[in-house]
Amino acid sequence: MTVCKFGGSSLADDAQIRKVRAILEADSSRTIAVVSAPGKRNADDEKVTDMLYECNALAQQNRSCRHVFDNIARRYIDIAKGLKLDTVKLAAALDEIRQNIDAGRGTDYAASRGEYLSARIMASYLGWEFIDAAECIVINGDGTVNPLSYERLAGRLEEGGHYVIPGFYGANEQGVVKTFSRGGSDISGAIVARAAGADLYENWTDVSGMYAADPRIVKDAKVIEELTYTQVRELSDVGASVFHEEAIAPVIEKGIAINIRNTNAPEDPGTMIRPSSEKKGIIGVSAKGGYSKLKLRKLMMFKRPGMRHAMLTMLHLYGVRPSFSFFGIDSIVWYFESGQANDSVLKSMVERLKKDFQLDYAYYERDHAMLGIVGGHLDDDTSFITACAALKEAGIRINNVNYGSSNTTTLIGVNDSDAKRAVEVIYKALF
Ligand code: ASP
Repeated sequence: MTVCKFGGSSLADDAQIRKVRAILEADSSRTIAVVSAPGKRNADDEKVTDMLYECNALAQQNRSCRHVFDNIARRYIDIAKGLKLDTVKLAAALDEIRQNIDAGRGTDYAASRGEYLSARIMASYLGWEFIDAAECIVINGDGTVNPLSYERLAGRLEEGGHYVIPGFYGANEQGVVKTFSRGGSDISGAIVARAAGADLYENWTDVSGMYAADPRIVKDAKVIEELTYTQVRELSDVGASVFHEEAIAPVIEKGIAINIRNTNAPEDPGTMIRPSSEKKGIIGVSAKGGYSKLKLRKLMMFKRPGMRHAMLTMLHLYGVRPSFSFFGIDSIVWYFESGQANDSVLKSMVERLKKDFQLDYAYYERDHAMLGIVGGHLDDDTSFITACAALKEAGIRINNVNYGSSNTTTLIGVNDSDAKRAVEVIYKALF
């Protein structure tokens, strides 16, 4: 059987929901749908989840959320009317939710109601059974999935049954509603696919798969036909979005394939994500900006056991958690997200590092980006040399390189202002 997750754009209005039904009806193995909250109908529109967060923020300031909530209510009522569903019960449910938000039920409760209502509507439109994620999906305090979720879900799913389950939320062990991070319905879909023992997890969105480069940068970027779990994870880490990177973990152990599909072009085969592949060569290039770079040096630094660990502990005290590390013989470069600390915090951190570890030097710089060239068996591939030559030719400075540590990704540190052009140049050189 196949678990299908539909993203916000697939639930944005009644016309989109009709497409969802046609997709589900086109293949009898599609028996479980996991749904997001309605997303944007056009570029100027608002996502229901964003509006729910706004309602909660108003409630926290002891202000009524009614004027914002009315827009949310209208969207659901319009959807229900468009699908010719009864709106009486829906109106009552909406009213109750608004009162709960006003009464201070909290951020996670408020945010989760978008998916809850989507799933309710979808279940009555399809005539499928609704399962509340809060009763089955258990989310730990740190936001990770509690394995109890698989047992509870499996206990609810009957062979041959048809179900609609809201994405994005579950509950903690005490039963209090809790959400995943933004875009978390992908994670819910993966949990359900694993619990249901699905053969395939289809992830329906508004693009025909993952692109070999961001199509906003490279206009004619091609869709990746097939890639592995590891490649998706590493491509996401350097900025490629489409699929939530934490959604890989639940399906990894069972080796369930994931197919990214387009609700607006269901005939497109999309991108297939498989457990592994023997294929060699490049599959994508992506870059992520907004990093700062910390550079440290001390003679014989690595001969002192525990020094690197102690320095990292100090970084953590200042709220800095590096995303990428590059090691020289006596030096370290750490890239961290710039938003983690302001300049005054970083200045004191650098001073303290210099003093406590008697460093030869330590300094940080803003405005960096990390570019990743992702593929298979890259440690045995010369495309990296072609990429570097293309960057040199384009006058783009390479700040750091990590080749060979991973056979999936070659990392290249560039200035933030060069990142987009670097993606373009490398795509042209390698694809
Ligand atoms: N509705 C949630 C969000 O906007 C979760 C999701 O769509 O996956 O982040």
